[in-house]
Amino acid sequence: MKILKTPAEAIEYRKSLKGTLGFVPTMGALHEGHLSLIKKAREENDFVIVSIFVNPTQFLPGEDFNKYPRRLEADFEICKRAGVDAVFTPSPENMYSEDEILVKAPKIKGYILEGFFRPGHFDGVLQVVNKLFNIIRPTRAYFGKKDAQQLYLIKQMVKNFFFDIEIIEGETIREKDGLAMSSRNIYLSEEERKRALSISKALKRAAKLSMSTKNIEKIKEEMLKILDVDKLQYIAFVDRDFNYIEKIQPNNTIILIAAYVGSTRLIDNIWI
Ligand code: AMP
Repeated sequence: MKILKTPAEAIEYRKSLKGTLGFVPTMGALHEGHLSLIKKAREENDFVIVSIFVNPTQFLPGEDFNKYPRRLEADFEICKRAGVDAVFTPSPENMYSEDEILVKAPKIKGYILEGFFRPGHFDGVLQVVNKLFNIIRPTRAYFGKKDAQQLYLIKQMVKNFFFDIEIIEGETIREKDGLAMSSRNIYLSEEERKRALSISKALKRAAKLSMSTKNIEKIKEEMLKILDVDKLQYIAFVDRDFNYIEKIQPNNTIILIAAYVGSTRLIDNIWI
């Protein structure tokens, strides 16, 4: 497995590949969620590249950029075992210059929900994914439904900027008890871990209820009874294009939650 440390190395390597290329962008501390995307990419393409880059521009001041888990050697091992051809691990210095041309997230859908509570977050995500797409030039790129708004915005960027890249969605991978896997779960104490479970439980209950009622207020009420978090930022009901909806639309609804458990911010969602 090749380790590519600079954009120049990655561009050179990419030029040597003949055939389809699957790309899985990550921030590392790889878990089964990432692995499911890598496996899918492995099945569907001749070559697979994974990027591991904790992208500074998508963290707001005061967020966890410095303490975000970094486990490069273990991640390399996971990638090697999964049959990845190359891992791209650039440094921020190699990815960014001063006073850059900037990609802006759309004014509405980039600034509601996650974008409201983390203003500018998606500008940073789109900036780095734009760079990564130009460096790697994949046939297909793989993103998880766990970050549903990010997935939506990346699809929009591909459309708006005419990238010739197919975006493939991966299902959210969960722990046995239902907690959505996340590199940030390691921040949770044992007690917080238990209460964090209330997020996936509330979503599961909402999905079940949506089979018998389309009334969002009613469903929300039931979700609030289950949630045992320290600070709820939002419960939201949107369609697949991230328009707010007033009633459950079967096969076109995403229910999302963002909440703090202790000092850890968690997000999860369910597609119904
Ligand atoms: P991250 O390293 O958190 O930036 O995530 C990299 C990719 O993995 C993104 O496309 C995420 O949506 C995806 N991902 C993260 N957690 C999960 C999960 N539990 N199940 C499926 N995909 C995930």
